[in-house]
Formats: sequence, structure tokens, C-alpha cells
Amino acid sequence: MKALVFEGYQSVSYQDVPDPGLVQSGDAIVQIERTAICGSDLHFYHNQGYQGPAFTIGHECLGQVVDIGAGVERFSKGDRVLVSCTVGCGHCAICSDGLYSGCETHASIGPATNVFGSPLLPGGQAEAIRVPSADINLFHIPDAVEDEQILFLSDILPTGYMGAELADVRPGDTVVVIGCGPVGVFAQQAAKIRGAATVIAVDLDGGRLKKAAARGCRPLNPLQEDLNEVARDLTHGRGADCAIEAVGREQTVLDALGVVRRGGRVAVIGVVTSDVTLNFMSQIMARGITLRSAIVSPQVYFPKLLPLIEQGRLDPTEIITHRLSLSDGPRGYEIFDRHEEDVLKVVMTP
Ligand SMILES: [Zn+2]
Ligand SMILES: [Zn+2]
Repeated sequence: MKALVFEGYQSVSYQDVPDPGLVQSGDAIVQIERTAICGSDLHFYHNQGYQGPAFTIGHECLGQVVDIGAGVERFSKGDRVLVSCTVGCGHCAICSDGLYSGCETHASIGPATNVFGSPLLPGGQAEAIRVPSADINLFHIPDAVEDEQILFLSDILPTGYMGAELADVRPGDTVVVIGCGPVGVFAQQAAKIRGAATVIAVDLDGGRLKKAAARGCRPLNPLQEDLNEVARDLTHGRGADCAIEAVGREQTVLDALGVVRRGGRVAVIGVVTSDVTLNFMSQIMARGITLRSAIVSPQVYFPKLLPLIEQGRLDPTEIITHRLSLSDGPRGYEIFDRHEEDVLKVVMTP
């Protein structure tokens, strides 16, 4: 079959790879009909020191079940399904506690080893994918829902919603969302659904800020305005109630911690691969700050968010700017990496 293969720094190619086959009885093979490039795929793309083997990249996909192992109970050949970006077993103590991304079985080798798109778990930017523990990691797609409406429930939509949940956004809150990329957009939408009074959307990209304003957010470019000052002005001098970091850099994590009031809640959902240095007493403890972070477990959020999509209260399609064939994927990566053509989200069809 054909797939997008990550080979090393800034190198993704469209090439032949072996067809996936059933390995364990709980596996399913899904023929992919829609897939997307994620901001976290760029962490591989930008990794200059990568020495590992080439692998099929991608972790946001949907399609049709074409083969199942003897142990699969909830799915049959021909079912239209969405694939979870993280793989859980559904039975261990951590999965049972709702943190499928921390599964004791599938994430036991190291951090994030149970996310599709790695040498261990070949990814979804391909014509087909093997999904372990399919009963837990696949979701049925209702007939009335279009592919593009549901595709992002595989990762970035639940990630954005998780940000609002971890930050405990409550009715009337003033919420800062740092980053207006796809995950930031969904965190903004989620904050509104949870009743935020004001959502301050922070980004350096004027085009993204314009879209945030159209979404009902208060746009803010930190090169032009002081975030802390604006947040204090909107909250009688206290500071924001919550902040959601959706960029993944040390400075923006520190900005999120600094902008909230005493007793404020901060969620970090950007992928932070660097160290973060802070003074625990002055920046967290003395101010009573709650700081939470996680890799998403779409298994928890799928049933919560699907009805909002079906009712039209959440429109995930607004972020799609590019529709390409999978064979054009290498160009998709270049456009996404360089922020060309006002790109926000690239969706591909094999
Ligand atoms: Zn993703
Ligand atoms: Zn588990």
C-alpha cells in the first residue's frame, strides 16, 4: 500500500510500505478514507537529531473496517469507524480510571509510545492501518455525520475540549487560550460551550486572530498588547480565571501561569518537549495555582462531544483550509510547516 513515511529531519515521502495485517486477536484493519496532518506531526518533522527507523506517520484518521481478529466483538467488516489517536487496552487500572493515554499495557514502553505514528505503531497517513484493541480504540460513525465533521474527534477536538476541562472552565469565567492553531480553536470553542464569559485568544498570526474575533473571542497579539494588562482590565484587576496553553513552548507555559489570578487554573495541552524552569513557590504554591496536563484519551470524550457535533453546536470543519490527496502529503507538510497559504488544517484523502 501507499503511505506517508517519515524518514528524518524535514523529510516525509509518499511511498510503498507493507500492507498491515492482523497480529493479535483484538486487532482490526481499517482502510483509510480521510486523514489529517497534526501539529504534533511537526515535532518529528523538526527533529534534527532523529536517528531511528523510517515509519508511517499520522494519528488522525477514519475509514472502513476491512478485517477483524477473532476477539473483536463491537465491530464488523464494512463498519465506518473513527480511529483514536492514542491506544488503550480498556481493562487496566489506568484505562479504567479514564486515562487511556496512560494505559499500563500499551504505554508501558515509554512516554507516548501508544500514539499512532511511530516505529512501534505505524500511523494513519496511509491507505490502511492496524488498530490494536479495536473494541476500545475504534468508534462507530453515525450515518448522518460527514467524514469532515467527525475526523477531528480522533485527537485535536477532544484535546481542545480536555484543555477546557482540565482548566475547569466555569460559567462566567475569563479564559485565556494561548495559541489559535487547530487545538487552540477547539479549546476556545470548548470554553464557550462550558459558559466562559470572555475568551482571550492569543496568537502572533493576524489571520488567525481575525478568525478568533469572528468566533466571538477577544483577539490579542502579545507583540501589540500586554496580555496581563488586558486580562486584569477584564477582571477588576484580578487576572484570568483560567488559561489554556495550546502552543507547547516554555515561554507560553510561563505566560499561562502568570496571567491567571490567585487560585487560577492552568491547563497545558500544547506538546512541550523542552524543559520548563520555574520558581515553584512564587509561581505556583503561594498563588494557589492548579496546573494540569495530559495526552488526550479520545475514548472518554467521543461520547460527550459527538452529540454537540450532531446538534451543530460544535463545527469542527471550520478549521479545514486544505484538502489534498495523500500523494500530495509531502507538499502538505511543507505548507503546514511554513504557515503558507493561510494554512490551519490539512486534510488528505488516500
Ligand atoms: Zn494530532
Ligand atoms: Zn489499559
